[in-house]
Amino acid sequence: MQQPSESDQTVPCSARIILECGCGEQLILLGLEEDWRSEQRTDFECSCGKGLTLSNRLNEDVLAFRQLVRGARGVHRD
Ligand SMILES: [Zn+2]
Repeated sequence: MQQPSESDQTVPCSARIILECGCGEQLILLGLEEDWRSEQRTDFECSCGKGLTLSNRLNEDVLAFRQLVRGARGVHRD
């Protein structure tokens, strides 16, 4: 079974949260922000040891742009 790679890029941005640390590392949380808040899980830790919160959330417009750029460079592996 083959799936067109385009399907990867149609996942709604709201279904995940990306926290960006000052060190450049990105933490990807799956789910909606309100779900994490409702579970009171709003504190996370970067691999560098620095604490992150949901307020470190990366701007989705920037993210979508980065994904477009990345996609344009070719994700295809045939
Ligand atoms: Zn970090």
